[in-house]
Amino acid sequence: MISIDEALDAVLAAVVPLDHETVPLLAALGRAAAREVRAREPVPPFDNSAMDGFALRGADLAAGRRRFRVAADVPAGRVAGRPLGEGEAARIMTGAPLPEGADTVVPVENTEAHGDEVAVTRAVEAGANVRRAGEDVAAGDVVVTGGTAIGPAELGLLAAVGVDQVAVARRPRVAIVATGSELVPLGHPLPPGRLRDSNSYTAYAQALEAGAEPVRLGIARDDPVETERLLAAALEHDVVVTSGGVSVGDYDFVKEAQERLGVERRFWRVATKPGKPLAFGVRGRTLVFGVPGNPVAAMLSFELYVRPALLALQGRRDIYRPWVLAVAEEPVRRTKERTEVRRCRLRRHPDHWGFVTTGPQGSGILSSMAGADGLLLVPPRFPGGEPGTELPVMLLAGTAEERPPFPR
Ligand code: AMP
Ligand code: MG
Repeated sequence: MISIDEALDAVLAAVVPLDHETVPLLAALGRAAAREVRAREPVPPFDNSAMDGFALRGADLAAGRRRFRVAADVPAGRVAGRPLGEGEAARIMTGAPLPEGADTVVPVENTEAHGDEVAVTRAVEAGANVRRAGEDVAAGDVVVTGGTAIGPAELGLLAAVGVDQVAVARRPRVAIVATGSELVPLGHPLPPGRLRDSNSYTAYAQALEAGAEPVRLGIARDDPVETERLLAAALEHDVVVTSGGVSVGDYDFVKEAQERLGVERRFWRVATKPGKPLAFGVRGRTLVFGVPGNPVAAMLSFELYVRPALLALQGRRDIYRPWVLAVAEEPVRRTKERTEVRRCRLRRHPDHWGFVTTGPQGSGILSSMAGADGLLLVPPRFPGGEPGTELPVMLLAGTAEERPPFPR
């Protein structure tokens, strides 16, 4: 059996980043920029007022002048007709371009109107309340780097510099197949001895969250022919995630089907609990994950291996989850030969993070996952620990470039 790190290395070694496509700006949300984008235009494009008030020459204020002739009126979107001279002010609105000659804005609340003159009741420093051209982004600045996820702020920056089409990585197409004769799809009554397919829903959601384009291809009964038929259809995608049928039971046909269809096995078992049986291989550029059937094991395998692969396929560098060192607020149970990945909730304290596990930790207890915001990583052969024991917790949200410290 191999460690989480070794499994992850094998998965990432098999990743060939996908090609790019150019999409309208809004469609780029949540996707990875294919290459760096530089600003063609500075932001702001011109010196402008940060306040409603009066634009004037700072030197006049410095020289002690407090009364100015109002020579122009500049609302946002307009340009003053002529330069300001000594002793002149322009009434100006926030965002409006500073008239030539002006370098300072006195806020309206620091002034008193006197017909066509204005009195400054409280002076400001020369240069105050002016936003300089390019102070946010200079022309030629990099606004996003290649591999950066485009979030709301990046989207806004791209809009601000006039970019309306962005080259982004193609979304990985992920085929999801559930296996198991016991499984019943939603919308059908549940006969005795059968259970609902939940894995294809969790995998779908996890794929979507990782920027992929998932499709659920359905449920394969525990039958070699049917398993092979669905897997063959799945292999037309960038990534395949089958769940179940991958251990050593009499009805576990996934590994066999992978082999018959020419999937090159890279590893099968990982020394983790849950999540030991995990058959990973490749066919051409397609990454093929046979994750275990137990719902928690299926989700954890996705979180630990499929998700980083999906992000790497999109050229992302932040393919991991952030992690924190956290302090047990309950006794920590011992482990045997495998690393245990326990679901927990983090608690914020003034100077540290604490954690409590989310109840029973069986690999079929999906509610333990629903209540969790972190994965506690307990090393193999851990003797057990008192409250106060420190252990790494991988968060179930956010991204990071640094790999969490998976125990070996
Ligand atoms: P398997 O790895 O096929 O032996 O499945 C292990 C356990 O996971 C069995 O108890 C299955 O009933 C359960 N299981 C397998 N596939 C799914 C699924 N798609 N949704 C929910 N539970 C599943
Ligand atoms: Mg099964």
